[in-house]
Amino acid sequence: MPTPFLLSRAAVLAGLIAAGSALAAAPSSPARAPAAATPPSPEGAAAQLRERVLGGGSRAWEILESLTTDIGARPVGSAAMDRAHNWALDRLTALGFQNVHAEAFTKEDAWFRGNESAAIVAPVERPLSILGLGGSVPTPAGGVEGEVVVFATLEALAAAPAESLAGRIAVVNQPMTRTQDGEGYAAAVRVRAGGASIAAGRGAIAFLTRSITTGTQRAPHTGALRYDAALPRIPAAALGVADADLLSRLAARGAAPRVRLVLESTTRSVPAWNVVGEIPGREPAAGTIVIGGHLDSWDPGQGAVDDGAGVAITMAAARLIGELPVHPRRTIRFVAWGSEETGGAGDAYAKAHAEEAAQLVVAAECDSGAGQAYRLSLPKLAAEDPLRRQLAVALAPLRVFVDARLAAHGGSDVEGLQAAGVPVFELTQDSSGYFDIHHSADDTLDKVSRTDLDQNVAVWAVTLELLGESSSALR
Ligand SMILES: [Zn+2]
Repeated sequence: MPTPFLLSRAAVLAGLIAAGSALAAAPSSPARAPAAATPPSPEGAAAQLRERVLGGGSRAWEILESLTTDIGARPVGSAAMDRAHNWALDRLTALGFQNVHAEAFTKEDAWFRGNESAAIVAPVERPLSILGLGGSVPTPAGGVEGEVVVFATLEALAAAPAESLAGRIAVVNQPMTRTQDGEGYAAAVRVRAGGASIAAGRGAIAFLTRSITTGTQRAPHTGALRYDAALPRIPAAALGVADADLLSRLAARGAAPRVRLVLESTTRSVPAWNVVGEIPGREPAAGTIVIGGHLDSWDPGQGAVDDGAGVAITMAAARLIGELPVHPRRTIRFVAWGSEETGGAGDAYAKAHAEEAAQLVVAAECDSGAGQAYRLSLPKLAAEDPLRRQLAVALAPLRVFVDARLAAHGGSDVEGLQAAGVPVFELTQDSSGYFDIHHSADDTLDKVSRTDLDQNVAVWAVTLELLGESSSALR
């Protein structure tokens, strides 16, 4: 670590930009000699900061390494999530955040995976790689068994006549398209979210979906489903892609394969927490910017890219702002939301802060993995302000452009705030590889690039600094 020194706001900003620029452009940029004892020029500050970030000084990697190693997977209601909320309180305090506290809420009907198994029992006998979908009802004791009907798409399932699946297990083997911005997920996730109820409406006794993934690993990818209240709730699970393809090929032979499925999930209401820490602004009346990631994760992996990365990026970026000798006008509030994957945290947060909503000038959640950020979308007033140009200039060296379109979605945990009138911004990350591992046992630290993580920290820090300092009303 270089010797600490006080930097002007412009020097720090220039340094953040230069640091991220080096990361975005060339991970192997050559090391510079430590700066001399003379006060740094902006270029000198930039070099200092670049070395600091390249050397892990952003702390994002260290935060993520600790979260994935010391805590691991963090499903809401688990003992690990209880430890994680204390971990977040300790981290925020150690990093110099103010007003560090946990806001408790009750997560109704938290879902717990039990024993699970599935197998093809005829015409061949094969084990199937599955993960129950979050929120799925259990199978009856001893499991369910039935003939499988395979559909190529959700639309094909929806077109099946009423009662045509009576006593059968519906399978949808719809692949997901790989895209940079994750739009392929938005299209494919409908199968996981709604397939069970569509199948139940046609008489099915269980539902299996091809994992919603762009990867080819055998490991399945879980995620939440939503039941239609008007239809019977049937057990539902995700198949590894190889096994979904195997069932498709067997079904194409003519004789319907038979599958046996056992899911022993349970639900109960549990305590949960949104953990908060602030970098106080120098003009409290200028309002508060709410950012963060979600601390909970699915159970099979380590919750590294979803969403340990988002927690680490935003915590590290806010901490860099906190180290400025002069804080921006607005307060930066970091929130580690405590139940995103099956919902609850964002609603609890919006409800608890309804009175304060007018003071919250803009909000965003970082929850798209650990790929490099490449696009900033702004709310209306920021997009019209000179702030837009300022951000475009500051972010261009980091290879981030400002989108001509306005931000539509700030992340699922800020939807409640958005509904209450809080504007949102969106930093889109390269999600090309994200869905290869998302929600699976392969969501582990080794998939994260330290360089990409630090590029995100620089991008968030620059964005927060400019939003925080801007005289724009934003809302
Ligand atoms: Zn997430």
